[in-house]
Amino acid sequence: MCGIIGYVGSEPALPILLDGLRRLEYRGYDSAGVAVVNDGLTVVRRAGKMEALEKALSPLPIAGSSGIGHTRWATHGGPTDRNAHPHLDCTGRIAVVHNGIIENFLDLRERLAAEGHALDSETDTEAIAHLIEAAYDGDLVAAVRAALRHLQGAFSVAVVSADEPGLVVAAKRTSPLIVGRAGHGTLLASDPPALLPYTREMVHVLDDQLVEITADGARITTFEGAPAEGESIHVDWDLVAAEKAGFPDFMLKEIFEQPDAVADTLRGRTLPDGRLTLDELRLSEEELRGIDKVFVVACGSAFHAGLVAKYAIEHWTRLPVEIEIASEFRYRDPVLDRDTLVLAVSQSGETIDTLEAVRYAKAQRAKVMAVVNVVGSSVAREADAVVYQHAGLEVGVCATKTFVTQMVALKLLALYLAQVRATMFPEEVAAVVRQMRTLPAALREALGLREQVAGIAREIAGAPDVLFIGRHVGYPVALEGALKLKEISYVHAEGYPAGELKHGPIALVEEGVPVVAVATQCHVYPKVLSNIQEVKARGARVIAVASAGDRDIARHAGDVIFVPRTNELLAPEVVSIPLQLLAYEVAKTRGLDVDRPRNLAKSVTVE
Ligand code: GLU
Repeated sequence: MCGIIGYVGSEPALPILLDGLRRLEYRGYDSAGVAVVNDGLTVVRRAGKMEALEKALSPLPIAGSSGIGHTRWATHGGPTDRNAHPHLDCTGRIAVVHNGIIENFLDLRERLAAEGHALDSETDTEAIAHLIEAAYDGDLVAAVRAALRHLQGAFSVAVVSADEPGLVVAAKRTSPLIVGRAGHGTLLASDPPALLPYTREMVHVLDDQLVEITADGARITTFEGAPAEGESIHVDWDLVAAEKAGFPDFMLKEIFEQPDAVADTLRGRTLPDGRLTLDELRLSEEELRGIDKVFVVACGSAFHAGLVAKYAIEHWTRLPVEIEIASEFRYRDPVLDRDTLVLAVSQSGETIDTLEAVRYAKAQRAKVMAVVNVVGSSVAREADAVVYQHAGLEVGVCATKTFVTQMVALKLLALYLAQVRATMFPEEVAAVVRQMRTLPAALREALGLREQVAGIAREIAGAPDVLFIGRHVGYPVALEGALKLKEISYVHAEGYPAGELKHGPIALVEEGVPVVAVATQCHVYPKVLSNIQEVKARGARVIAVASAGDRDIARHAGDVIFVPRTNELLAPEVVSIPLQLLAYEVAKTRGLDVDRPRNLAKSVTVE
């Protein structure tokens, strides 16, 4: 999720690296750092945005015409100076920048420490520098190849050695890496914007390929050393479009990033024995076994993700779950004690209402677990345990990939509780995890619905009101669908439990009112069909989101959006895709700025 850059050529490297990092800052800004090869290696890195690095560098003239740089979106270890990249080996002569997650980092770090390596940060990345050191005998390329054999997970890495100026070695598996030529040298980076000032002809390095860049060009091989070729591209976007990877807005880019984001949330969560693991756990299993009640506290979309989690936690752990809007929670004297578990859900980890709820819960001696996207944020630090979403930076104000990954992370947490409390057999936990691993493919398939959804959106864009209905986990999804529509298209929308309509809201239904019904296959499907009939009888225009292969649904709804079939509790992730696209396309039809909706801020740090 971070940005990496590398340069070798005849020009001073530092200004080129800094310019590249500035262009990649949309990928993360927890810290920034550079390593420039000169007589030795000069490494400067600072927590915070680029300005902090630039300030640290301003009195330092750094010579050297090769180097690497990094702008970080932390996944392992908080956003501190020590965790900032580049990371060094014990000799300080090898520097590494990395984008991605090394899944087996704990094993590697333990092994390296036992072999006498001194690891200085909390990151997964640092292990790579020491692995290269262990294999280095004057040939950086060979040492990187040797280190790669030990890495599991997703990475693009770039490496320099003080002993081999004029060379940057990089390698890729899953995380992006491109190379390009400038008149004065060769560059590599995570994304095209960093290379745009020099060239529009770029080469995507492919998975399991290694690239050596020198002043004269780039040489690509497989990890094992066989000659290989990347994929050439011509980039004709301008800089702004390049930051959005060619999408017209960040929101759409982030909607399309969801398959990868969910894969990242799931990455590295299982131990070799199949058991689940959390990122930070400051509670004993004994304490978790003593829990007798769960409260979920959250705001906005995170509240809806929490509501989905309530169904999963109750089903898998048999613990009673209450859910509460964070800003209400601490003002109503909730009944908490040391056997209560409070689950705090906040993308930014800085949402003041959620943070204050965490503090309140801790003061009452309740245990707190958090689901958070931003590593090292206040909620993450103050909670007793954390599952990070690993969704990467979300620029669009309304939550899309962070909502879907919140649901996935919450379910991992629910399964963790079921594992510790033995309310599920290990094979049952493993079976759900296996089903969760099919989610990225299902989401990818659901993204193919965009054109159909856009057609529906154009037809309903003028409607003054839209209703969303669903039952069971379809209910929170309906709430979120309505919230998205309100947030970015300013259309009045409400989400309801489908069975509740007849207790009031059905009075709003008249000829032509769009009603979006979540009608995927589940144990309450027949009941949802009845509720669809109720609104149809009063003239509603029903748009159903149903499971692929459902032959019955067309007889009930005017428009049917078919999504891939999943386990009932995993359907919310898949159904969210067409609902996000619907809100997006309605807003676009109405000519609105989806990335910056009026009156809203990304992270709400006031009460
Ligand atoms: N896992 C690395 C870290 O936390 C790299 C993060 C990234 O790719 O953004 O430092």
